[in-house]
Amino acid sequence: MTSDLILDYLSSTDSLRFLDRGFTVDCDSDHYGCNLEMPKVKTNRVKYPEGWELIEPTLRELQTKMREAEDDPHDGKRKCEALWPIFKIAHQKSRYIFDLYHRRKEISKELYDFCMDQGYADRNLIAKWKKPGYERLCCLRCMQPRDHNFQTTCVCRVPKNLREEKVIECVHCGCRGCASGD
Ligand SMILES: [Zn+2]
Ligand SMILES: [Zn+2]
Repeated sequence: MTSDLILDYLSSTDSLRFLDRGFTVDCDSDHYGCNLEMPKVKTNRVKYPEGWELIEPTLRELQTKMREAEDDPHDGKRKCEALWPIFKIAHQKSRYIFDLYHRRKEISKELYDFCMDQGYADRNLIAKWKKPGYERLCCLRCMQPRDHNFQTTCVCRVPKNLREEKVIECVHCGCRGCASGD
């Protein structure tokens, strides 16, 4: 072989090896140079269970709302009040997953577990919803006696017929009442 041919040969086998590696390398999608040279490399490391595409739009929408709530400048709001939307959206996300699995039975156990593993739903809050008396619990904090004056649970946990004020918003998450019978 002439030296030119050898060079050609080497570069072609090199690029073959390069391509071969390209298929297995976990390459970052933001790294543009890679995608220019090589066939598209599958970059998603997360394996999404079946049915994910049906719930993804709702979850994405709630994630976006959550981000907006977190970025909100809270002008003129009390410090605690600024957190209310965040609690509310976190509650909505968990409730959505909970309903789909436990009540409507529309998603698989695999997808349900996946959502909790990925942080789309709060496992601890959902565990409470399965217990009598906590079916409507707003957030975990409102059932912790130590966070409240006089070591009682939050005012929002008191059934409507047992509290003096009929309209309330609790200081922790803005809950307007989450006792089971309300
Ligand atoms: Zn509550
Ligand atoms: Zn509360």
